Amino acid sequence: MLNRLNGDKRLKEVKLDNHGLPSEAALEARMRPRGFSRAGVLVPNETVREDTAADAELLRNLKLTYAEIASALDALIAAAEASPVHQARLGPLQCEVRVHQGFQICPWAPDPHQAQCSAGQGVRHGSVDWRVTNLTTGEEMKGPGLIVHLIRDHHFFEGPLSPNRVDPFQLAHLLGFF
Ligand SMILES: [Zn+2]
Repeated sequence: MLNRLNGDKRLKEVKLDNHGLPSEAALEARMRPRGFSRAGVLVPNETVREDTAADAELLRNLKLTYAEIASALDALIAAAEASPVHQARLGPLQCEVRVHQGFQICPWAPDPHQAQCSAGQGVRHGSVDWRVTNLTTGEEMKGPGLIVHLIRDHHFFEGPLSPNRVDPFQLAHLLGFF
């Protein structure tokens, strides 16, 4: 999970590319262990480019879009956030959220100490972790709320070797897409 921003001060100074976004190297530095979070979302030797290419192929094979997966998870988290007991059920899917103080910063944020990322539809659920259980199959997954934005707007599920990976195949199956 990408934790509240308390990482290395060097990460504050990043070069922005022509689109005003962090360079690939700066982005990956933020994602490594002890970057934005202690565990990191990319382990050494993983690259965002390779990871996202592999996930893109998987989604093509499943005939699913990032938006479809992100929207299904978004709806579950939003329902649980709206509940006074922080849980909700939509069909066979049960979602619980844990609400934290502070919020997770998207690693693509151009100026993470000043403002949250505004790419695409922007960050949602940045203050929660979620757990979703499929009551029909017994499958269960958990992850950070920020993943909705990472999937929808950055096409990123966190690195395959990261302990915080939200595996797209497992997630799509959990959510009942196939
Ligand atoms: Zn972002």
